[in-house]
Amino acid sequence: AKEFGGDGYQFYSSELNHRAMERLTLETSLRRALERREFLLHYQPLLGIGSGRIVGVEALLRWDSPELGMVSPARFIPLAEETGLIVPIGEWVLRSACEQLRALHELGYTELCVSVNVSARQFRHDGFCAMVAAVLAAVGLDPRYLELELTESVIMERSETAKGILRKLKQMGVSLAIDDFGTGYSSLSYLKHFPIDRLKIDRTFVKEVTVDQDNAAIAEAIVALAHVLNLDVVAEGVETAEQLAFLAALRCDVVQGYHIARPLPPRNLLEFLEARQED
Ligand code: C2E
Ligand code: CA
Ligand code: CA
Ligand code: CA
Repeated sequence: AKEFGGDGYQFYSSELNHRAMERLTLETSLRRALERREFLLHYQPLLGIGSGRIVGVEALLRWDSPELGMVSPARFIPLAEETGLIVPIGEWVLRSACEQLRALHELGYTELCVSVNVSARQFRHDGFCAMVAAVLAAVGLDPRYLELELTESVIMERSETAKGILRKLKQMGVSLAIDDFGTGYSSLSYLKHFPIDRLKIDRTFVKEVTVDQDNAAIAEAIVALAHVLNLDVVAEGVETAEQLAFLAALRCDVVQGYHIARPLPPRNLLEFLEARQED
C-alpha cells in the first residue's frame, strides 16, 4: 500500500483499528454494566395540555461507566441490540421504571403513568409478554399505568407476529404508543389493524413547527389522523412556549420536551412534581 499513497492508507488503517478498539472497549464495559449497577433511569415529564397536569413520565436509560463516563443511549443501545444485551438490560429498565412509579404512587402521585422504550430485539425475544406480566405482578403495578413505546419499524417488520404480541399486551391492559411517528414507515393503514393507543410525533417535526410550513402541515395532519382513529397524540421535543401554543391550537393532547422539563433523575423528578403541585 505504501507505493500508492503511503500515509493515507496507514492513517485509514490505524483509524479503523482505533474504531474497532473503541467498540471492543464499549462492548466489554457494556457486558459488565448490569452487574456493576452502572445503569440508572432519568424521567421526563409529560404534560397533558387539556388538564395542565403532569400525566406521566418517560423512562430514559443512562449509563454511568467508570471507564467511559456518561455514555449516551444513542451510542450504546445499538450495540446492546447487536449483542443481545438489550434483553436483560431492557428487563432491568422495565422493572426499575415500574418500581419507581409505584413509589411515586405511594407518595400520592396516583395518576402518573410510566412510558418505557422497547427495542426491536427485545420485542421479538420469546417470552417478552410473559416477562412484562411477571414484572407487573412482582412489582404490584396495575398494567394500565404502563405504556410501552415502540417504533414503526419494530412493529412493521414481520407484522403478523408483531400484531399477535401487541394484542397480547393489550389484553393484559398495557398501553401502546408508536414512537418517532412519521419518520419510519410510509403506510398508515397499519394503524387501523394494530391495537395502538397513541402516537408520538417525532421531534424533527416539532422542532420547526412554528417557522416551517411543511413541518406545521405534517404535525397538523398527524394530529388529525390520530384523532380520526381515536388515538392520543404526544408531541416530543417541545422546546419553546411558541411550539407549545402552536401544538395546543392543533389540539395535540400531550407535550414533552425541554420547555416542560428535561429528563430528570428520580430525586429531581420528585422535586419537580412537588413544585408543580403547589401552584
Ligand atoms: P426517544 O425515545 O425518542 O427519546 C426522546 C429523546 O429526546 C431523549 O434522548 C430525550 O432526552 C430527548 N429529548 C427530550 N426532550 C427534548 C427536547 O426538548 N429537545 C431535544 N433536543 N431533545 C429532547 P435520550 O435520552 O438521549 O435517548 C435517546 C434514545 O435512546 C431514545 O429516543 C430511545 O430511542 C433510546 N432509549 C432511551 N432509553 C431507552 C431504553 O430504556 N430502552 C430502549 N430500548 N431505548 C432507549
Ligand atoms: Ca421514546
Ligand atoms: Ca421518540
Ligand atoms: Ca427519537
